[in-house]
Amino acid sequence: MSFREIPLMKLNEGTVLFHPYVSKNSFKNVKKVLAGRWIGQGPLVDKFELKFKTMFAKKNHCLATGSGTDALHLSYILSGLKKGDEVIAPLFTCTATNIPFLYMGVKIKFADIDPQTMNISVESVKKLITKKTKAVICMHYGGLPCDLDELHELTKKYKIPLIEDAAHALGATYKGKPIGSISDFTMFSFQAIKHITTADGGMLCMKNKKMIKKAKRIRWFGIDREKKQKATWENDIFEIGYKYQMTDLGASVGLEGLKDFKKILNHRKNIFNIYLEKLSNNKNIICVNKDDGKRTHAAWLFTIISKKKDFIQKKLREKRIETNQVHFRNDKYSIFKKFVKGKKYPNMDYVENKYLAIPVHHKVSFNKAKYIADLINKIV
Ligand SMILES: *Cc1c(COP(=O)(O)O)cnc(C)c1O
Repeated sequence: MSFREIPLMKLNEGTVLFHPYVSKNSFKNVKKVLAGRWIGQGPLVDKFELKFKTMFAKKNHCLATGSGTDALHLSYILSGLKKGDEVIAPLFTCTATNIPFLYMGVKIKFADIDPQTMNISVESVKKLITKKTKAVICMHYGGLPCDLDELHELTKKYKIPLIEDAAHALGATYKGKPIGSISDFTMFSFQAIKHITTADGGMLCMKNKKMIKKAKRIRWFGIDREKKQKATWENDIFEIGYKYQMTDLGASVGLEGLKDFKKILNHRKNIFNIYLEKLSNNKNIICVNKDDGKRTHAAWLFTIISKKKDFIQKKLREKRIETNQVHFRNDKYSIFKKFVKGKKYPNMDYVENKYLAIPVHHKVSFNKAKYIADLINKIV
């Protein structure tokens, strides 16, 4: 019997893989927002951007969006990518990283993974990069930062931007600097199950101050909204914009998440470390991690790699512990087929059916994490 034949669990039945974090204060804040003048994009969005900047972006500038995917699409537009341009992007990531390229007619060259971290392989990027490459995108899988020094060395040489998909990596650091403060563009997601949430939402951190005005226009149809509100707008739209803003309703929830962020991150790290300690000696399991003193993990996912993945998943499901592969190699999807004909990704081939994410979130107690780890050690 495969794990798929065991019925999925009902809510509150066991340990789910993800659970949104919503602070108690958010309930009264949402009420207050709903009673006020601004429920869409208003002053709370500005406040959220500022607080986020102080915590994660430092000298970089922040723009809140309606989703992480919006922020990624915006960063691709601001990078000047056009139809027919070529980019190097991760093969293993959420489809959100790569789908906006399809909106734009940008050609994707997928890079293989580093089998130790499941992040983009620098070696693979080196093989793919040419004078035609217009940007490199990396994604910090599970919350472990990519090899940013090596990637920057390449993008600087070719004078192209490095764009970080940091949806998993809120609170992670690279050589002491917070993710969000380092590259030309960094994107975060506040989708329901990320570290902190605005129900749906995203943030784009950018280095170039001159881009903020344009970014704000493109976020709102192409209109200078500030001027429009002051009735000094020239009534012309000269570039195609979108409707990519965050709402005050969402920002009110996100602001509470930022207040509690230290607590959220610490709990996740503690759960992560319990798993690491208990599972890293198991010869049938590899824990996806890299501890080289350069980077700290944001502990969004804890991923194990095992030849017995299906068996582990089945046994955990019997005990009502939810697990999942979460993201899949993007070359599997028909929409990306045209970019991968005849291409080989040996590292991805190797881990494809072996990786599995186990629960790491605020509802998992230390005792539950110990129980899950002990259970896995009994299974394999
Ligand atoms: C969640 C996520 C996104 C963005 O998702 P949205 O749902 O648009 O906020 C992008 N990349 C990765 C890797 C993600 O996990």
